[in-house]
Amino acid sequence: MSMSLSVTFWGTRGTIPTPGAGTVRYGGNTACVSVRDQRGHTAILDAGTGIRALGQLLGAQPGGRLDLLLSHVHWDHIQGLPFFEPMYQHGQDIHIHGPAPSGVSLQEVLERQLDGAVYPVPRTARPARLTVHETSPGASLDVPGLKVRSIALSHPGGALGYRLEPADGGAVVAYLTDNELGSGGADRVSSAWRRELEEFVRGTELLIHDAMYTPALLADRPGWGHSSALEAVALAASAGVPRLALFHHEPDHDDGQLDELVGTARAAAPPGLTVTAAHEGWTVNL
Ligand SMILES: [Zn+2]
Ligand SMILES: [Zn+2]
Repeated sequence: MSMSLSVTFWGTRGTIPTPGAGTVRYGGNTACVSVRDQRGHTAILDAGTGIRALGQLLGAQPGGRLDLLLSHVHWDHIQGLPFFEPMYQHGQDIHIHGPAPSGVSLQEVLERQLDGAVYPVPRTARPARLTVHETSPGASLDVPGLKVRSIALSHPGGALGYRLEPADGGAVVAYLTDNELGSGGADRVSSAWRRELEEFVRGTELLIHDAMYTPALLADRPGWGHSSALEAVALAASAGVPRLALFHHEPDHDDGQLDELVGTARAAAPPGLTVTAAHEGWTVNL
């Protein structure tokens, strides 16, 4: 039997949390997505503020292994980690995978975030076992029950995209956020990388991709490491992916503007490609 995956969005916003009346539909929490197979193996993608609500749910069923995959350690992808309930529970076995930023280890960055100067809760209050695994582009990750591969993304300081599927086959999902598909105003994008990216997402049932910008905003921010919704549609279309979730929403875009952005993206999508703007609390069963 081929296994299915359940993908839930806990935070869909980029850069900074944006609570308020204007963002209630798509959500204001920063990046966090969970991927779960039928046997309960869970991978968590990024630890933005959305991870807090996920942690509350997981905290009610302690004792297992959890694998957290970080795309990179920019603030909006780790800000929720100090508030992740399973860290405060005995018997939790938490494995954090991700790329090391330049000049410092991943472990060191995560420890700095929990330093007493910026976060008052002492280390002794967090009895969970924490293991940090630095990973690099193209590597396979050791996540129980799941087959996970990574790819280099185009982003200042670097970031990794992930492709996940059940170890014994089944549905496939790809998570590519903080990724600039365009040239970034410089010669940063090789055609080889583009081909590699297409091959990486080919065969996935759901592509979650950075779609932060409108074309106008993109023109203003070359080299910032993000894509327009139309560029995300073009990638999904060229790789023959049936389903695209627009992700890492621009903090200045309210629900109405995101409706417009997804409308434009849908109009540009070829037949057979379904485009949705990811929203908090949304679950996709693959
Ligand atoms: Zn980000
Ligand atoms: Zn970033």
